[in-house]
Amino acid sequence: MSKDIKTQVVVLGAGPGGYSAAFRAADLGLDVVLVESRETLGGVCLNVGCIPSKALLHVAKVIDDAADMASHGVTFGAPQIDLDKIRSWKESVVGQLTGGLGGMAKARKVTTVYGFGKFTSDKTIVVAGNDGAETTITFDNAIIAAGSSVVDLPFIPTEDPRVIDSTGALELKDVPGEMLVLGGGIIGLEMGTVYNALGSNVSVVEFADQLVPAADADIVKIYTNYNKKKFNIMLSTKVVAVDAKDDGLYVTFEGKNAPEGQVRYDKILVAVGRKPNGKLIDADKAGVNVDDRGFINVSKELRTNVNHIFAIGDVVGQPMLAHKAVHEAHCAAENIAGKKHTFDPRCIPSIAYTDPEMAWVGVTEREAKEQGLNIEVANFPWAASGRAIASARTEGKTKMIFEKETGRVLGGAIVGINAGEMLGEVCLAVEMGADAEDLALTIHAHPTLNESIGLAAEVFEGSITDLP
Ligand code: FAD
Repeated sequence: MSKDIKTQVVVLGAGPGGYSAAFRAADLGLDVVLVESRETLGGVCLNVGCIPSKALLHVAKVIDDAADMASHGVTFGAPQIDLDKIRSWKESVVGQLTGGLGGMAKARKVTTVYGFGKFTSDKTIVVAGNDGAETTITFDNAIIAAGSSVVDLPFIPTEDPRVIDSTGALELKDVPGEMLVLGGGIIGLEMGTVYNALGSNVSVVEFADQLVPAADADIVKIYTNYNKKKFNIMLSTKVVAVDAKDDGLYVTFEGKNAPEGQVRYDKILVAVGRKPNGKLIDADKAGVNVDDRGFINVSKELRTNVNHIFAIGDVVGQPMLAHKAVHEAHCAAENIAGKKHTFDPRCIPSIAYTDPEMAWVGVTEREAKEQGLNIEVANFPWAASGRAIASARTEGKTKMIFEKETGRVLGGAIVGINAGEMLGEVCLAVEMGADAEDLALTIHAHPTLNESIGLAAEVFEGSITDLP
């Protein structure tokens, strides 16, 4: 069975980029077709990324917080883990959100086509439907939002079910006794946090000399120190071989902190990054350039080299984050609708939803030094925050990066509980060109962790008087 559809806009991929583009284009009065190869809308983020990981991290946080209460005189029994229930709760969270998107698409009269789409020309996409039907979509404009996929390592036996990626980790099939997380980036650490709370002994191996290499070393050090009793962290070390035997996965390491000989694990989570899906869509048939890695180059309007074909989200480059995809989506849709819009943010926030959380935005101290910027760094340690003390979580700190001459906020980083939620204020400050005085004169409620942002600004101004 085959079908033909004509549309003003086709969007290829329904992740945060794709559905946001489709909805914005429809809201602007355009006729839109949204193509998705999964059974549900929402892409990696809602189905196997941001949302299910946060649902499981919520469970982990409750377990860890309950254990921490013992030192304040409240003791709970050992947690009784019912994996089936945790899994179905996580799935209900995902279902609520992906189902909601389905309803929103219908309400906006966005036509959804489920199947894998490929370009056949610069005006047509053919979708091999999940139901076996083929749909030919003829479009005036296209938005490629095909996202990214996990990266495998050649020497890892990925066909072995004990070797999992982030999607496998989120399936939560079991709680392995010994788990190796290969890659100390955000995704690996978040999943490691979940499995550690559920009872696994978690080891993390990272090739670089710090976890989360994109963040400033002093921020990550606080995280690492807090977690070094929970996780076995091997920095400046790499896995060179994995021997899959009946009784476990035997791993050989090399590097500064490599253990001798082989070490046995029950499961290995490979979390070494993601690669763009640009090579999978026959973009060449539309004349769209895709680079060797699979990224599609775009202008600030999100146009590819073919004027009426746009690309957004993970497939156009780093950082591979949902909120970046959403903002690019709005920009692309608005340009198609004839509005003038460029994607030119001053900053894109990054957050590791670990325990403690690490969050940063704008220029990091390391980047500022590399760029020769004249900055001043102001730190406010949470050991002096009333709220952090009352929460028994004083390990955190708030670090603000100011332009020395003008006091303009160039960036900021926070490590500590709720750092991710707190970062919004720093994002706004960077984006709006606020300076230290703006932050210092803003009355922050007491006692809050957010106060530390105003207090870091006072540190810069040399005017700090009272500590909360
Ligand atoms: P995707 O979400 O990858 O969506 C692309 C969609 O297109 C997919 O559904 C795919 O099936 C579909 N598709 C691809 N090609 C075709 C085709 N040819 N035809 C039809 N359909 C196609 N980001 C954050 O900002 N915050 C987080 O906390 C966060 N946590 C994460 C946790 C994990 C475990 C992972 C893996 C990722 C996480 N991310 C997070 C990253 C985030 O998920 C991505 O940046 C985001 O999903 C990118 O959106 P996108 O629209 O570009 O692509």
